[in-house]
Amino acid sequence: MDILDRYRRQVVFRGIGAEGQARLARARATIVGVGALGTAIANSLVRAGFGFVRLVDSDRVEESNLQRQMLFDEDDAAAGRFKVEAAASRLARINSATALEPRVLRVDASNVEGLVGDVDVVLDGSDNFDVRYAMNDACGRLGVPWIYGGVLGDSGVTMNVMPRDGPCLRCLMPEAPEPGSFATPETIGVLNQITAVIGSIEAVEAMKIVLGSPGPRRSLLSISLWDTSFQEITIEPSASCPICGLRR
Ligand SMILES: [Zn+2]
Repeated sequence: MDILDRYRRQVVFRGIGAEGQARLARARATIVGVGALGTAIANSLVRAGFGFVRLVDSDRVEESNLQRQMLFDEDDAAAGRFKVEAAASRLARINSATALEPRVLRVDASNVEGLVGDVDVVLDGSDNFDVRYAMNDACGRLGVPWIYGGVLGDSGVTMNVMPRDGPCLRCLMPEAPEPGSFATPETIGVLNQITAVIGSIEAVEAMKIVLGSPGPRRSLLSISLWDTSFQEITIEPSASCPICGLRR
């Protein structure tokens, strides 16, 4: 395979070039949650030529996933395949040069360090706050950048969390909200277009972080597609944050 030919539309792009493409081929990422956001992210990173992608999720594909989870099909749902296995088999056909590590695992504070410690960047494809706080704290301790993302209805948010500099998720919300205190996709729904938008932003931010592009965005980006509204919200690192405050 001629790498420069395969990626020529990326290599000619001013932010990447041949050197950047070679760096992407060595880049390592973990995607936590391989549902709507996670499949959009994985599709993007693997097509862009990331060298290693770890996929972590414990769920199986269901028919109601197909409206928005872009790597799965009706056969995966009928067979009840694990999402990470269905995704890995599809991704392997898209780009055989990416090393894929599917892990059927429910992420929690006890296992998260083993999933995020050996990669360049961690991407949030999860749908629950306990997992996000576990990622936030482990990545903060280990000095790994991670990218928060969440979607609901037509709306989504995303924020880069850079180790040592913050702000992090605990600067934004010190503790995870109580389950039941917030709306969920089960009641509000979720449009596949918002998962594609937020997943694409997470993926391009991961590329910029890997390539060392200057000044990764620190603001919280909030998007509502039905109202066509885009907002950037400045979040200050909190002195009382147990992750960021200690470093100040
Ligand atoms: Zn913080």
